[in-house]
Amino acid sequence: MLDAAFMRRWMSATAAAVDREASRLTDLDSAIGDADHGANLQRGFRAVTAVLDKEAPDTPGAVLALAGRQLISTVGGASGPLYGTLLRRTGKALGEAAEVSREQLAEALGAGVTAVAQLGGAAAGDKTMLDALLPAVEALGESFAAAAEAAGGGALATVPLIARKGRASYLGERSVGHQDPGATSSALLIGALAEAAA
Ligand code: ADP
Ligand code: MG
Repeated sequence: MLDAAFMRRWMSATAAAVDREASRLTDLDSAIGDADHGANLQRGFRAVTAVLDKEAPDTPGAVLALAGRQLISTVGGASGPLYGTLLRRTGKALGEAAEVSREQLAEALGAGVTAVAQLGGAAAGDKTMLDALLPAVEALGESFAAAAEAAGGGALATVPLIARKGRASYLGERSVGHQDPGATSSALLIGALAEAAA
């Protein structure tokens, strides 16, 4: 079962992965965006780990909801509200339980991803974070490792796509041939989930 400490490990592992990969995320965003994705997420997840250390919420749902609120208040740009909504809605869907199962997390994350799609108006194949998150939710019903693999595969599969949402969509056909930065960071988020579970 997954408790509050597990969710905190997930958030710290995400912060570490974002620190490690920040320059890569920025490079990807410089090709089809405005070169701030690495810095945006670094600022956001550092703030998340800081607030979780300070407030130490005691349920899995409260950890993710607080992390989401923190991302919304610290990250400008498209990705802050979108990742914030993802975690906040996932946390809310987990309710007040002290421990949840992987299957319950998969269901809650599904609700979070649906909220991201509603907020941003994107669908599968639009070359956004959803292209990593949707297959990850699907595979999380099977295992953490399968979810991480599915997210990584989904991020890679954004390379040949035309961006239809966000800044990259301004490039139209010229967005083809580049991996989406948000799908790449979503693969880091889900990879960190598998790390927390290992
Ligand atoms: P900004 O585009 O405001 O500079 P970031 O660079 O931090 O914000 O994030 C860009 C990423 O956000 C994109 O690579 C994409 O994955 C994601 N994104 C942008 N718009 C949307 C949207 N409408 N729906 C889902 N994801 C989106
Ligand atoms: Mg950007």
